[in-house]
Amino acid sequence: MKSFYPEKRLLMGPGPSDVHPRVLEAMARPTLGHLDPDFQELMEEIKGGLKELFKTENRMTFPVSAPGSAGMESCFVNLVEEGDVVVVVKNGVFGERMRQNVLRSGGVPVLVDVEWGTAPDPALIEDALKANPQAKILAFVHAETSTGVCADAEALCALAKNYGCLTIVDAVTSLGGIPVLVDEWGIDAIYSGSQKCLSCTPGLSPVSFSEAALEKIKNRTSLVRSWFLDLTLVMDYWEGEGGRSYHHTAPVNALYGLHESLVMLFEEGLEATWKRHRETHEMLVSGLADIGLSLLVDEAVRLPQLNAVSVPEGVDEAAVRSRMLNDHGIEIGAGLGPLAGKIWRIGLMGNAARPESVKRCLEGLSASLAAGHNS
Ligand SMILES: *Cc1c(COP(=O)(O)O)cnc(C)c1O
Repeated sequence: MKSFYPEKRLLMGPGPSDVHPRVLEAMARPTLGHLDPDFQELMEEIKGGLKELFKTENRMTFPVSAPGSAGMESCFVNLVEEGDVVVVVKNGVFGERMRQNVLRSGGVPVLVDVEWGTAPDPALIEDALKANPQAKILAFVHAETSTGVCADAEALCALAKNYGCLTIVDAVTSLGGIPVLVDEWGIDAIYSGSQKCLSCTPGLSPVSFSEAALEKIKNRTSLVRSWFLDLTLVMDYWEGEGGRSYHHTAPVNALYGLHESLVMLFEEGLEATWKRHRETHEMLVSGLADIGLSLLVDEAVRLPQLNAVSVPEGVDEAAVRSRMLNDHGIEIGAGLGPLAGKIWRIGLMGNAARPESVKRCLEGLSASLAAGHNS
């Protein structure tokens, strides 16, 4: 075997996204023990930074030591008990995964099926909540990475409250790219990922739980169906009143990376970060129009950080993606499910949301499309 030296790619797909060099550099620093006092100080800073990022006072805010899917599972497995009815909104890949999580947690999912590429209509969600008065939780995806659609999280959370439901919100692609206001919107359980808009490497999932969520967990009559993700156990390590104790070995160097990405985020300012995502999106959309490409999603519900670009009639979408990768060193994403072959997914997430990246991507796309016409 030999050491592995990957090519430098520009990651502009649905994630992982371009990692900032400062994050990589932070991760190469000496490993500390996971109970080292200096490392515990770093953990406190990460929790504080995540609270600021999520705009919450929730004390139960920390990164799960695993990717976004584990953050998802952490929310469902802790909050859902045997027989709990959960209304799940599905308008892409990740809503279906939520439904699977409800099933595996012993709950009863009620699916609200919404057309891919469109946003959930709050009136439809209200109908489902009305029709299922026994429902305890409403779960939905804020930024659907499979389609590039943004849900009205504020409106959906307000509805859930009116019908006495807690909320579980997928903010894997939204956090850091667009406003996510946990306390103001009244979100009860939320999970995200390090590798989308935070300019960090994959493998960590920031989560946050409200007091109401913790109350439901406290009143459980059955054991949480996952030992690793059981919040009350994990928090002995992340919070540890009267001294932290060993739960699992934290991914120490990965947490250096997340810490650095938070440092950079607050150096830039959260509002400025959202603005940068918005502005690079506008630049991309206008450049795409110049080369005859348009977006799938209605302007009003488009995510700036995930752009679903319609593949023109007669174009081999896979060939364009492989030319982008091989000739231009840029990764873009393919469509999934009913959108397979119909769209490309261009991510402008975190460190990839820069004018230079948009320019490179447009040049690459233009050349890759032309190469297709010539062959
Ligand atoms: C990427 C993503 C996930 C899963 O995150 P992983 O880190 O790949 O496990 C979940 N939900 C959404 C909306 C995502 O974009």
